[in-house]
Amino acid sequence: MKKLTILGSTGSIGVSTLEIVAAHPNKFQVVALTAGNNLELLQKQIEEFSPQMVAVITAESADKLSRMLSGKKPEILHGVEGLIAAATASDTNMVVAAIVGAAGLVPTVAAIKAGKDVALANKETLVTAGHLVMRMVKEQGIKLYPVDSEHSAVFQSLVGHRPEDVKRVILTASGGPFREYPIDKLSHVSVGDALAHPNWSMGQKITIDSATMMNKGLEVIEARWLFDITGERIAVNIHPQSIIHSMVEYVDGCVMAQLGVPDMKGPIAYALTYPERVPTGVKPLDLTLLSGLTFFQPDYARFPALKLAYRAMTDGESMPAVMNAANEVAVEAFLAGRIKFTDISASIERTMDAHDVSQLGSVEEVLAVDLWARGKAREILKISEG
Ligand code: NAD
Ligand code: MG
Repeated sequence: MKKLTILGSTGSIGVSTLEIVAAHPNKFQVVALTAGNNLELLQKQIEEFSPQMVAVITAESADKLSRMLSGKKPEILHGVEGLIAAATASDTNMVVAAIVGAAGLVPTVAAIKAGKDVALANKETLVTAGHLVMRMVKEQGIKLYPVDSEHSAVFQSLVGHRPEDVKRVILTASGGPFREYPIDKLSHVSVGDALAHPNWSMGQKITIDSATMMNKGLEVIEARWLFDITGERIAVNIHPQSIIHSMVEYVDGCVMAQLGVPDMKGPIAYALTYPERVPTGVKPLDLTLLSGLTFFQPDYARFPALKLAYRAMTDGESMPAVMNAANEVAVEAFLAGRIKFTDISASIERTMDAHDVSQLGSVEEVLAVDLWARGKAREILKISEG
Protein backbone atom coordinates (compact mmCIF):
# COMPACT_ATOMS: atom_id res chain seq x y z
CA MET A 1 0.00 0.00 0.00
CA LYS A 2 1.38 3.40 -0.99
CA LYS A 3 0.66 5.93 1.75
CA LEU A 4 0.88 9.28 0.10
CA THR A 5 1.56 12.88 0.93
CA ILE A 6 0.68 15.07 -2.04
CA LEU A 7 2.44 18.42 -1.96
CA GLY A 8 0.40 20.72 -4.22
CA SER A 9 -2.73 18.56 -4.36
CA THR A 10 -4.91 21.26 -5.95
CA GLY A 11 -2.64 21.80 -8.97
CA SER A 12 -2.73 20.14 -12.35
CA ILE A 13 -0.41 17.27 -11.29
CA GLY A 14 -2.02 17.00 -7.84
CA VAL A 15 -5.51 16.60 -9.31
CA SER A 16 -4.35 13.98 -11.85
CA THR A 17 -2.57 12.11 -9.04
CA LEU A 18 -5.77 11.99 -6.98
CA GLU A 19 -7.70 10.67 -10.01
CA ILE A 20 -5.30 7.72 -10.11
CA VAL A 21 -5.62 7.26 -6.35
CA ALA A 22 -9.42 7.28 -6.59
CA ALA A 23 -9.35 4.64 -9.33
CA HIS A 24 -7.18 2.26 -7.22
CA PRO A 25 -8.41 2.49 -3.61
CA ASN A 26 -6.77 -0.85 -2.73
CA LYS A 27 -3.32 0.48 -3.70
CA PHE A 28 -3.25 3.95 -2.19
CA GLN A 29 -4.09 5.80 0.97
CA VAL A 30 -3.85 9.59 1.31
CA VAL A 31 -2.06 10.64 4.50
CA ALA A 32 -1.56 14.35 3.85
CA LEU A 33 -2.45 17.05 1.30
CA THR A 34 -1.08 20.55 0.87
CA ALA A 35 -2.38 23.44 -1.21
CA GLY A 36 -2.09 27.15 -1.85
CA ASN A 37 -5.15 29.30 -2.42
CA ASN A 38 -7.73 26.91 -3.83
CA LEU A 39 -9.49 26.09 -0.55
CA GLU A 40 -12.78 25.01 -2.19
CA LEU A 41 -11.02 22.26 -4.12
CA LEU A 42 -8.95 21.30 -1.07
CA GLN A 43 -12.17 20.99 0.94
CA LYS A 44 -13.60 18.58 -1.65
CA GLN A 45 -10.38 16.56 -1.65
CA ILE A 46 -10.46 16.33 2.15
CA GLU A 47 -14.05 15.09 2.05
CA GLU A 48 -13.22 12.49 -0.59
CA PHE A 49 -9.84 11.23 0.65
CA SER A 50 -9.94 11.85 4.45
CA PRO A 51 -6.26 12.75 4.99
CA GLN A 52 -4.93 12.90 8.56
CA MET A 53 -3.21 16.20 7.90
CA VAL A 54 -3.43 19.15 5.52
CA ALA A 55 -1.21 22.20 5.12
CA VAL A 56 -1.96 25.56 3.50
CA ILE A 57 0.22 28.63 3.05
CA THR A 58 -1.18 31.16 5.55
CA ALA A 59 -2.72 31.07 9.05
CA GLU A 60 -5.78 32.88 7.61
CA SER A 61 -6.30 30.11 5.04
CA ALA A 62 -5.93 27.50 7.79
CA ASP A 63 -8.67 29.23 9.85
CA LYS A 64 -10.91 29.62 6.83
CA LEU A 65 -10.47 25.97 5.86
CA SER A 66 -11.24 24.85 9.39
CA ARG A 67 -14.54 26.80 9.28
CA MET A 68 -15.38 25.27 5.88
CA LEU A 69 -15.08 21.70 7.19
CA SER A 70 -17.67 19.89 9.25
CA GLY A 71 -17.45 16.55 11.05
CA LYS A 72 -14.09 14.90 11.65
CA LYS A 73 -11.38 17.34 10.58
CA PRO A 74 -7.79 16.60 9.68
CA GLU A 75 -4.99 18.36 11.50
CA ILE A 76 -4.68 21.74 9.70
CA LEU A 77 -1.23 23.29 9.53
CA HIS A 78 0.22 26.25 7.65
CA GLY A 79 3.45 27.82 6.41
CA VAL A 80 6.71 26.11 5.52
CA GLU A 81 6.51 24.19 8.81
CA GLY A 82 3.15 22.83 7.71
CA LEU A 83 4.57 21.71 4.37
CA ILE A 84 7.48 20.03 6.14
CA ALA A 85 5.16 18.28 8.60
CA ALA A 86 3.09 16.94 5.67
CA ALA A 87 6.21 15.87 3.77
CA THR A 88 7.57 13.98 6.78
CA ALA A 89 4.31 12.59 8.26
CA SER A 90 5.20 9.30 9.95
CA ASP A 91 2.59 7.20 8.11
CA THR A 92 3.66 8.47 4.66
CA ASN A 93 5.92 6.25 2.57
CA MET A 94 5.81 8.23 -0.68
CA VAL A 95 5.68 11.97 -1.28
CA VAL A 96 4.36 13.35 -4.55
CA ALA A 97 6.25 16.63 -5.02
CA ALA A 98 3.85 18.70 -7.14
CA ILE A 99 4.24 22.24 -5.83
CA VAL A 100 5.24 24.66 -8.58
CA GLY A 101 8.52 26.58 -8.42
CA ALA A 102 11.40 26.82 -5.98
CA ALA A 103 8.81 26.77 -3.15
CA GLY A 104 8.86 22.99 -3.64
CA LEU A 105 12.53 22.62 -2.69
CA VAL A 106 12.38 22.74 1.11
CA PRO A 107 9.48 20.27 1.62
CA THR A 108 10.92 17.89 -0.98
CA VAL A 109 14.29 17.91 0.75
CA ALA A 110 12.52 17.33 4.08
CA ALA A 111 10.79 14.28 2.60
CA ILE A 112 14.07 12.83 1.34
CA LYS A 113 15.81 13.45 4.67
CA ALA A 114 12.91 11.67 6.42
CA GLY A 115 13.54 8.62 4.20
CA LYS A 116 10.40 8.93 2.07
CA ASP A 117 10.39 7.81 -1.55
CA VAL A 118 9.59 10.75 -3.83
CA ALA A 119 7.59 11.00 -7.07
CA LEU A 120 9.06 14.21 -8.41
CA ALA A 121 7.06 16.61 -10.56
CA ASN A 122 8.69 19.72 -9.11
CA LYS A 123 11.62 19.98 -11.54
CA GLU A 124 12.75 23.23 -9.90
CA THR A 125 14.03 21.13 -6.97
CA LEU A 126 16.68 19.54 -9.18
CA VAL A 127 17.35 22.70 -11.20
CA THR A 128 18.16 24.75 -8.12
CA ALA A 129 19.85 22.15 -5.93
CA GLY A 130 20.48 19.06 -8.07
CA HIS A 131 23.89 18.14 -6.70
CA LEU A 132 22.75 18.46 -3.08
CA VAL A 133 19.48 16.63 -3.64
CA MET A 134 21.04 13.71 -5.51
CA ARG A 135 23.62 13.33 -2.74
CA MET A 136 20.80 13.18 -0.16
CA VAL A 137 18.91 10.63 -2.27
CA LYS A 138 22.01 8.38 -2.22
CA GLU A 139 22.73 8.91 1.47
CA GLN A 140 19.13 8.14 2.46
CA GLY A 141 18.81 5.24 0.00
CA ILE A 142 15.39 6.49 -1.08
CA LYS A 143 13.86 6.12 -4.54
CA LEU A 144 13.33 9.25 -6.63
CA TYR A 145 10.88 8.59 -9.47
CA PRO A 146 10.45 11.13 -12.26
CA VAL A 147 6.92 12.38 -12.98
CA ASP A 148 7.88 14.81 -15.75
CA SER A 149 6.78 13.02 -18.93
CA GLU A 150 10.15 13.32 -20.69
CA HIS A 151 12.05 11.99 -17.70
CA SER A 152 9.54 9.22 -17.21
CA ALA A 153 10.13 8.32 -20.88
CA VAL A 154 13.90 8.27 -20.35
CA PHE A 155 13.47 6.25 -17.14
CA GLN A 156 11.28 3.74 -18.99
CA SER A 157 13.77 3.61 -21.89
CA LEU A 158 16.58 2.82 -19.44
CA VAL A 159 14.87 -0.15 -17.77
CA GLY A 160 16.87 -3.31 -18.46
CA HIS A 161 19.87 -1.41 -19.87
CA ARG A 162 23.26 -0.53 -18.42
CA PRO A 163 23.87 3.18 -17.73
CA GLU A 164 27.40 2.88 -19.12
CA ASP A 165 25.97 1.90 -22.53
CA VAL A 166 24.02 5.15 -22.90
CA LYS A 167 25.33 7.47 -25.60
CA ARG A 168 22.78 10.27 -25.52
CA VAL A 169 19.46 11.26 -24.07
CA ILE A 170 17.10 12.99 -26.51
CA LEU A 171 14.36 15.03 -24.87
CA THR A 172 11.41 15.89 -27.07
CA ALA A 173 9.59 19.22 -26.88
CA SER A 174 6.35 20.29 -28.50
CA GLY A 175 7.70 23.75 -29.29
CA GLY A 176 4.64 25.30 -27.65
CA PRO A 177 2.23 27.80 -29.22
CA PHE A 178 4.95 29.97 -30.85
CA ARG A 179 6.91 27.33 -32.76
CA GLU A 180 6.03 28.94 -36.08
CA TYR A 181 4.96 32.42 -34.96
CA PRO A 182 6.80 35.33 -36.65
CA ILE A 183 9.81 36.00 -34.39
CA ASP A 184 9.56 39.78 -34.79
CA LYS A 185 6.00 39.71 -33.44
CA LEU A 186 6.80 37.67 -30.29
CA SER A 187 7.16 40.83 -28.21
CA HIS A 188 3.46 41.55 -28.77
CA VAL A 189 1.88 38.18 -27.90
CA SER A 190 -0.78 38.26 -25.18
CA VAL A 191 -0.95 36.20 -21.98
CA GLY A 192 -3.85 34.28 -23.54
CA ASP A 193 -1.79 33.45 -26.66
CA ALA A 194 1.05 32.16 -24.48
CA LEU A 195 -1.30 30.07 -22.32
CA ALA A 196 -2.80 28.31 -25.36
CA HIS A 197 -0.59 25.21 -25.35
CA PRO A 198 -1.29 22.99 -28.35
CA ASN A 199 -1.00 19.56 -26.63
CA TRP A 200 -0.82 19.69 -22.83
CA SER A 201 -3.16 21.10 -20.19
CA MET A 202 -0.98 22.23 -17.27
CA GLY A 203 -0.54 24.89 -14.58
CA GLN A 204 0.05 28.48 -15.75
CA LYS A 205 3.72 28.74 -14.88
CA ILE A 206 4.82 25.62 -16.76
CA THR A 207 2.59 26.60 -19.69
CA ILE A 208 4.44 29.91 -20.05
CA ASP A 209 7.73 28.01 -19.59
CA SER A 210 6.67 25.81 -22.50
CA ALA A 211 5.99 28.86 -24.68
CA THR A 212 9.50 30.26 -24.01
CA MET A 213 10.97 26.73 -23.98
CA MET A 214 12.50 27.49 -20.60
CA ASN A 215 10.55 24.39 -19.59
CA LYS A 216 12.80 22.30 -21.82
CA GLY A 217 15.83 24.12 -20.44
CA LEU A 218 14.76 23.24 -16.90
CA GLU A 219 14.21 19.67 -18.07
CA VAL A 220 17.69 19.40 -19.56
CA ILE A 221 19.11 20.33 -16.15
CA GLU A 222 16.65 17.97 -14.43
CA ALA A 223 17.83 15.13 -16.72
CA ARG A 224 21.46 15.98 -16.03
CA TRP A 225 20.92 15.21 -12.33
CA LEU A 226 18.35 12.41 -12.53
CA PHE A 227 20.37 10.34 -14.98
CA ASP A 228 23.87 11.53 -14.05
CA ILE A 229 24.70 12.56 -17.61
CA THR A 230 26.53 15.70 -18.76
CA GLY A 231 24.82 18.45 -20.74
CA GLU A 232 26.67 17.71 -24.02
CA ARG A 233 25.00 14.30 -24.06
CA ILE A 234 21.47 15.70 -23.67
CA ALA A 235 19.85 16.79 -26.94
CA VAL A 236 16.50 18.46 -27.53
CA ASN A 237 14.33 17.67 -30.55
CA ILE A 238 11.18 19.61 -31.30
CA HIS A 239 8.40 17.11 -31.94
CA PRO A 240 5.11 19.01 -32.34
CA GLN A 241 2.80 15.99 -31.95
CA SER A 242 4.04 15.09 -28.40
CA ILE A 243 3.67 11.36 -29.03
CA ILE A 244 7.29 10.29 -28.45
CA HIS A 245 7.94 11.57 -24.93
CA SER A 246 11.75 11.19 -25.10
CA MET A 247 14.44 8.73 -26.16
CA VAL A 248 17.69 7.10 -25.11
CA GLU A 249 20.35 6.37 -27.71
CA TYR A 250 22.81 3.58 -26.89
CA VAL A 251 26.42 3.09 -28.02
CA ASP A 252 25.36 0.44 -30.57
CA GLY A 253 23.12 2.96 -32.36
CA CYS A 254 19.88 1.50 -31.02
CA VAL A 255 17.38 4.04 -29.75
CA MET A 256 14.67 3.30 -27.18
CA ALA A 257 11.66 5.60 -27.12
CA GLN A 258 8.47 5.77 -25.06
CA LEU A 259 5.23 6.70 -26.82
CA GLY A 260 1.73 7.58 -25.71
CA VAL A 261 -0.97 10.19 -26.04
CA PRO A 262 -0.04 13.32 -24.10
CA ASP A 263 -1.64 12.75 -20.69
CA MET A 264 0.26 13.12 -17.41
CA LYS A 265 -1.68 10.27 -15.80
CA GLY A 266 0.65 7.81 -17.59
CA PRO A 267 3.92 9.10 -16.11
CA ILE A 268 2.32 9.88 -12.73
CA ALA A 269 1.00 6.31 -12.39
CA TYR A 270 4.36 4.82 -13.40
CA ALA A 271 6.10 6.87 -10.69
CA LEU A 272 3.52 5.79 -8.11
CA THR A 273 3.47 2.07 -8.86
CA TYR A 274 6.86 1.27 -10.50
CA PRO A 275 7.62 -1.40 -11.59
CA GLU A 276 3.94 -2.34 -11.75
CA ARG A 277 1.66 -0.79 -14.38
CA VAL A 278 -1.96 0.01 -13.60
CA PRO A 279 -4.87 1.16 -15.79
CA THR A 280 -5.06 4.96 -15.90
CA GLY A 281 -7.95 5.70 -18.25
CA VAL A 282 -5.49 7.36 -20.66
CA LYS A 283 -6.76 7.20 -24.25
CA PRO A 284 -5.09 4.43 -26.26
CA LEU A 285 -2.53 5.49 -28.85
CA ASP A 286 -3.55 4.68 -32.43
CA LEU A 287 -0.66 5.64 -34.67
CA THR A 288 -2.73 4.96 -37.79
CA LEU A 289 -4.93 7.94 -36.92
CA LEU A 290 -1.98 10.34 -36.90
CA SER A 291 -0.90 12.14 -40.05
CA GLY A 292 2.77 11.86 -39.11
CA LEU A 293 5.45 12.36 -36.50
CA THR A 294 7.91 15.15 -37.22
CA PHE A 295 11.14 16.33 -35.59
CA PHE A 296 13.17 19.54 -35.81
CA GLN A 297 16.23 21.15 -34.23
CA PRO A 298 15.26 23.94 -31.83
CA ASP A 299 15.92 27.46 -33.06
CA TYR A 300 17.82 29.39 -30.35
CA ALA A 301 16.94 32.76 -31.90
CA ARG A 302 13.28 31.94 -31.33
CA PHE A 303 13.86 30.21 -27.98
CA PRO A 304 16.81 31.96 -26.26
CA ALA A 305 15.71 30.56 -22.88
CA LEU A 306 16.74 27.05 -23.94
CA LYS A 307 20.23 28.28 -24.72
CA LEU A 308 20.38 30.08 -21.36
CA ALA A 309 19.68 26.79 -19.61
CA TYR A 310 22.60 25.08 -21.34
CA ARG A 311 24.75 28.06 -20.39
CA ALA A 312 23.57 27.89 -16.76
CA MET A 313 24.50 24.22 -16.67
CA THR A 314 28.00 24.94 -18.03
CA ASP A 315 28.49 27.87 -15.62
CA GLY A 316 27.42 25.43 -12.93
CA GLU A 317 26.85 25.57 -9.15
CA SER A 318 24.69 28.63 -8.37
CA MET A 319 23.82 29.68 -11.95
CA PRO A 320 20.86 27.32 -12.56
CA ALA A 321 19.25 28.54 -9.30
CA VAL A 322 19.76 32.14 -10.43
CA MET A 323 18.26 31.39 -13.84
CA ASN A 324 15.30 29.60 -12.25
CA ALA A 325 14.54 32.42 -9.80
CA ALA A 326 14.79 35.09 -12.52
CA ASN A 327 12.45 33.01 -14.65
CA GLU A 328 9.89 32.70 -11.85
CA VAL A 329 9.90 36.48 -11.32
CA ALA A 330 9.59 37.19 -15.05
CA VAL A 331 6.84 34.62 -15.66
CA GLU A 332 4.80 36.00 -12.76
CA ALA A 333 5.24 39.54 -14.12
CA PHE A 334 4.26 38.43 -17.63
CA LEU A 335 1.15 36.65 -16.31
CA ALA A 336 0.24 39.84 -14.43
CA GLY A 337 0.51 41.83 -17.67
CA ARG A 338 3.48 43.86 -16.38
CA ILE A 339 6.12 42.87 -18.96
CA LYS A 340 6.33 41.67 -22.57
CA PHE A 341 6.81 38.02 -23.52
CA THR A 342 10.30 38.70 -24.88
CA ASP A 343 11.28 40.45 -21.63
CA ILE A 344 11.19 37.04 -19.94
CA SER A 345 14.33 35.62 -21.58
CA ALA A 346 16.04 39.01 -21.85
CA SER A 347 15.72 39.68 -18.12
CA ILE A 348 16.86 36.18 -17.20
CA GLU A 349 19.99 36.66 -19.29
CA ARG A 350 20.74 40.03 -17.68
CA THR A 351 20.24 38.55 -14.21
CA MET A 352 22.63 35.72 -15.06
CA ASP A 353 25.18 38.21 -16.44
CA ALA A 354 25.06 40.11 -13.15
CA HIS A 355 25.77 36.99 -11.09
CA ASP A 356 29.17 35.73 -9.93
CA VAL A 357 28.96 31.95 -9.71
CA SER A 358 29.37 30.67 -6.15
CA GLN A 359 29.56 27.21 -4.57
CA LEU A 360 26.34 25.94 -3.02
CA GLY A 361 27.06 23.74 -0.02
CA SER A 362 23.60 23.71 1.56
CA VAL A 363 19.92 24.27 0.85
CA GLU A 364 20.19 27.52 2.86
CA GLU A 365 22.81 28.76 0.40
CA VAL A 366 20.52 27.83 -2.51
CA LEU A 367 17.71 29.83 -0.92
CA ALA A 368 20.03 32.83 -0.42
CA VAL A 369 21.06 32.79 -4.09
CA ASP A 370 17.41 32.38 -5.11
CA LEU A 371 16.50 35.47 -3.05
CA TRP A 372 19.37 37.50 -4.53
CA ALA A 373 18.33 36.58 -8.08
CA ARG A 374 14.69 37.53 -7.43
CA GLY A 375 15.79 40.97 -6.23
CA LYS A 376 18.12 41.45 -9.20
CA ALA A 377 15.48 40.30 -11.71
CA ARG A 378 12.93 42.75 -10.26
CA GLU A 379 15.48 45.54 -10.43
CA ILE A 380 16.17 44.72 -14.09
CA LEU A 381 12.46 44.53 -14.90
CA LYS A 382 11.81 47.67 -12.83
CA ILE A 383 9.01 45.96 -10.91
CA SER A 384 8.27 45.78 -7.21
CA GLU A 385 7.52 42.58 -5.27
CA GLY A 386 4.09 40.95 -5.59
P1 NAD B 1 -0.13 24.17 -10.70
O1 NAD B 1 0.11 25.64 -10.72
O2 NAD B 1 -1.31 23.61 -11.42
O3 NAD B 1 -0.22 23.66 -9.19
C1 NAD B 1 0.72 24.01 -8.23
C2 NAD B 1 0.34 23.53 -6.86
O4 NAD B 1 1.29 24.03 -5.91
C3 NAD B 1 -1.03 24.00 -6.37
O5 NAD B 1 -1.59 23.02 -5.52
C4 NAD B 1 -0.69 25.26 -5.58
O6 NAD B 1 -1.68 25.58 -4.63
C5 NAD B 1 0.62 24.85 -4.93
N1 NAD B 1 1.49 25.97 -4.63
C6 NAD B 1 1.86 26.97 -5.47
N2 NAD B 1 2.71 27.82 -4.84
C7 NAD B 1 2.89 27.33 -3.60
C8 NAD B 1 3.66 27.76 -2.49
N3 NAD B 1 4.39 28.87 -2.52
N4 NAD B 1 3.63 27.01 -1.36
C9 NAD B 1 2.87 25.89 -1.30
N5 NAD B 1 2.12 25.44 -2.33
C10 NAD B 1 2.13 26.15 -3.46
O7 NAD B 1 1.22 23.50 -11.23
P2 NAD B 1 1.38 22.11 -12.03
O8 NAD B 1 1.21 22.35 -13.47
O9 NAD B 1 0.62 21.02 -11.36
O10 NAD B 1 2.95 21.85 -11.82
C11 NAD B 1 3.50 21.42 -10.58
C12 NAD B 1 4.95 21.03 -10.81
O11 NAD B 1 4.98 19.90 -11.69
C13 NAD B 1 5.77 22.12 -11.47
O12 NAD B 1 7.07 22.08 -10.96
C14 NAD B 1 5.78 21.72 -12.94
O13 NAD B 1 6.94 22.17 -13.62
C15 NAD B 1 5.77 20.20 -12.83
N6 NAD B 1 5.20 19.51 -14.00
C16 NAD B 1 3.91 19.74 -14.34
C17 NAD B 1 3.36 19.11 -15.45
C18 NAD B 1 1.92 19.31 -15.83
O14 NAD B 1 1.45 18.64 -16.76
N7 NAD B 1 1.17 20.17 -15.18
C19 NAD B 1 4.16 18.26 -16.22
C20 NAD B 1 5.47 18.04 -15.83
C21 NAD B 1 5.99 18.68 -14.71
MG1 MG C 1 7.89 17.78 -19.21
